[in-house]
Amino acid sequence: MRDLAKHPELASLNGATVRERWNLQQIIDGCLRHGFGAIAPWRDQVQAMGVDAAAKALKASGLRVNGYCRGGLFTAADKAGLAKALEENRRAVDEAATIGADCVVLVAGGVAASGAKGIAGAHRQIEDGIAALLDYARPSGVKLAIEPLHPMYANDRACVNTLKHANDLCDKFGQGVGVAVDVYHTWWDLDLEREIARAGRAGTILGFHVCDWLAPTTDLLLDRGMMGDGVIDIPLIRGWVEAAGYAGFVEVEIFSAKNWWKRDPEEVLTVSRERLRTAC
Ligand code: ZN
Repeated sequence: MRDLAKHPELASLNGATVRERWNLQQIIDGCLRHGFGAIAPWRDQVQAMGVDAAAKALKASGLRVNGYCRGGLFTAADKAGLAKALEENRRAVDEAATIGADCVVLVAGGVAASGAKGIAGAHRQIEDGIAALLDYARPSGVKLAIEPLHPMYANDRACVNTLKHANDLCDKFGQGVGVAVDVYHTWWDLDLEREIARAGRAGTILGFHVCDWLAPTTDLLLDRGMMGDGVIDIPLIRGWVEAAGYAGFVEVEIFSAKNWWKRDPEEVLTVSRERLRTAC
């Protein structure tokens, strides 16, 4: 496995980790001070700076933009809603191309927004959405990274909940689409090692995200832990991902309203760096 102590530049920072206190420029500067090699910014922060200005700032920083957060949310209750979602996703692809991002991270969309009971209809809408978006994204060179989310989000956020499902979608759609493996969403999955190996064979692993699962978790969305503070065997999963041939970044992505978002971002980045060495 690659030694993160010797290669700090293999680390990426997901902007959400420090977004409560810092704007995009501050996050870029923080990444440089703390030796991150890449950044995964969020659309609202890029738009707040202005897409062209953000592109300039990112280019000047020398940071790789390994992902753009986020696209997806394909489900909707009517045709107008579906069309609007696709339009929004096309804009995300355009922005990703402008800022030089490797991929747009897709959070598929949940059952609730589909307006139907059961998961099958939402799955159809997601497949249609990805197919349409791929036609648009392929010529731009921006890839689409399907990120399976923990099943607790199936209703309200994303009903692609296993790496197996995401891999099946990649098989179906072929070139231009891949997966993002987030330890928070996938650590519980008994098929994880096998599905990571499968994605590795297909060459479709586009991202690897780390944080930790706190016990008990008190908020379904915003109570992620710092690496090492929870129950996930992160080195084990990183070992699987790298054995599968993944040579990309290890992205720190922590949504933590009660703890890390309240702290000084300098401290968050210092601790993140340390935990990348000791807990990942
Ligand atoms: Zn993630």
